[in-house]
Amino acid sequence: VQAELVAGWAGPGRTADGHDVDILANVADGASARAASSKPVAGIGLFRTELAFLDRATAPTVQEQAASYREVFDAFSGHKVVIRTLDAGSDKPMKFVDSPDEANPALGVRGNRIADAQPELRDTQLDAIAAAVADTDADVWVMAPMIATVAEAREFAGLARARGLKAGVMIEVPAAALLAPQVLAEVDFVSIGTNDLTQYTMAADRMSAELAALTDPWQPAVLSLVSMVAAAGRAAGKPVGVCGEAAADPLLACVLVGLGVTSLSSAPVAAAAVGARLGQVTLAQCEAAASAALATSDPAAARAAAGAQV
Ligand code: PEP
Ligand code: MG
Repeated sequence: VQAELVAGWAGPGRTADGHDVDILANVADGASARAASSKPVAGIGLFRTELAFLDRATAPTVQEQAASYREVFDAFSGHKVVIRTLDAGSDKPMKFVDSPDEANPALGVRGNRIADAQPELRDTQLDAIAAAVADTDADVWVMAPMIATVAEAREFAGLARARGLKAGVMIEVPAAALLAPQVLAEVDFVSIGTNDLTQYTMAADRMSAELAALTDPWQPAVLSLVSMVAAAGRAAGKPVGVCGEAAADPLLACVLVGLGVTSLSSAPVAAAAVGARLGQVTLAQCEAAASAALATSDPAAARAAAGAQV
């Protein structure tokens, strides 16, 4: 990991007045993790495991999975790696997962919900992650996608901890954001998925070009939910990351830090610009930008209000 290689930014992520923010990478497999390790990132904030097995007709064995996860962990030996259990279904259908025919797949059996009918998929995946962790120096955290209820968070944390894993959940369903204090009481950390959180908050398909004005993470309603989750994290003393593409926008990154988010993970290509921008502003400026953006009622006004502060 070569944070110091990028000209103009010495990394790790830190505001001008020394407030630490982990800048992390989203990756899909060993190859993308190795590529990310030459970028100025402190670790991996989202390993989308479903992308490593998209073409498989049959479920990968525990050994196959462990070998694949090891590749990613080894690319970030000594660093933080957040691995996500399968987020299959909806925009990521997988051949070895029995998905029902549904009129609204984004609102259907996807992500962690698949384990209700096929618990063995999640159990064997957690076994494989635990096996890979036993063999690596990376600091591995595991989280579940598409958590909507406190009970789902509790169940997942129990399964992960039974295998000695640090357990978290994604906050990407508004219901989980609204109950963030109760969700945080069950887990060690949360990570906000702004791509889906925006889709579900605005009731607008994230894949629709026509609805792009609605699926804008600068929507003040989305920022308000992020603010609630970050405040709950601070009260609980637990990390709150963001791992959606919102974290790739340098100005929005300042706002997210001002809201209280503790790590930012996105496409690795964005890390240098985000790190450089954060290094030019103080935490107080980020907080002022966050308050100004929250006080607006549309994305353009939120951008302008934040931009005037940092
Ligand atoms: C998100 O929803 O913001 C996220 C990071 O997960 P994915 O894009 O894989 O759904
Ligand atoms: Mg998501």
